[in-house]
Amino acid sequence: TYVIVNGEFIHRSEAKVDIEDRGYQFGDGVYEVIRVYNGKMFTGTEHLERLIDSGKKIGMEIPYTVLELTKQLKHLIDKNGLNLGTLYLQVTRGIAPRNHAFPSRDVLPTFVAYSKEVERPVGNMKSGVKTILNEDIRWLLCDIKSLNLLGNLMAKQKAVEAGCFEAIQHRDGVVTEGSLSNISIIKNGKVITHPADNLILNGITRQKVLEICRQNGIPFSETQFTLGDLKDADEVFLSGTTVEVTPIVEIEGEKVGDGNAGPITKNLQELFIKEIEKECGA
Ligand code: PLP
Repeated sequence: TYVIVNGEFIHRSEAKVDIEDRGYQFGDGVYEVIRVYNGKMFTGTEHLERLIDSGKKIGMEIPYTVLELTKQLKHLIDKNGLNLGTLYLQVTRGIAPRNHAFPSRDVLPTFVAYSKEVERPVGNMKSGVKTILNEDIRWLLCDIKSLNLLGNLMAKQKAVEAGCFEAIQHRDGVVTEGSLSNISIIKNGKVITHPADNLILNGITRQKVLEICRQNGIPFSETQFTLGDLKDADEVFLSGTTVEVTPIVEIEGEKVGDGNAGPITKNLQELFIKEIEKECGA
C-alpha cells in the first residue's frame, strides 16, 4: 500500500521517522481521522478545515490548502483501492535539534497520511456499549486535535481494563467527552451535549448530529450537564468518526434506561446513515 509523506506517494515500507521529528519527541503536531465510505471521504472538508485550524492554534501553518489536501487524499484512496476505511493524517512541526522552543520558520512541517480498511462498527451501534466514569485530567486546550493523547489513552485503557468500550470523562462534576468520542444525553426528548469550548474536541460527527437535530425538529441544546444529569438521562450516546452514533447502555455497571439502545438514539443513527448515503452514495 501507498502512504503520503510530504506530498510524495511512497510504499509503506519506505516511510521512515526521523528520531528528531518533533511529533515523535514532543507530540508537537496535530492530526485528523477521516472516514471513507464507498471510496469517498465523508465530511472531508470539515476535517481538513479543522486540521488547518488546529495547526493555527499551536502556531503551525499547514503547508497545504484544503483543496490540495483533498486532491492528495483522493489520489491515495484511488491508489490503495480503498472502499471502506479511514484516512489518518498528521502534521508535526518538523525535524530539528531537540529544543522546547519552536524551530525557525524554515523548518518545514512533516506531513504524513495513510489509509486503512475498517468495517463499520455495526455490532456496537446495535447493542450499545458499556462505559466507566473517569476524572478528566487533561489540559485546557482539548479543542485542539493535538498528537498529545496521553490523557485520552490512559482514560481508554482504564475502560478496557474494566471490560468497557469508553471512559466518560468529567471535570468538576461536569461531563466533558469520551477518550475518542463526544457524549450526549437525552432527557425528555431533548439532546444535550457539552458546548464547543476549550474543554472538548468539537467533533465533526457531533456537529453533524446537531445539524440533523436542527433539520428534523429534534430539540437539542449545547449546555453543560452534570454527573447527576447523566445518571438521570433517558438515553446516552457517543458520537465520533470511528464510532458514528453509538448508544451507551451501561455506566459503571448501571443500566441506562432499560439497558437497550433508545428510540431517539436509533432515529439519530438512521438519519446519520442517510447523511452518509447522501454524501458518499450507497
Ligand atoms: N473527542 C475526542 C477526544 C476525540 O478523539 C474524537 C475523535 O474522534 C472526538 C471527540 C470525535 O470527533 P470527530 O467526530 O470529529 O471524529
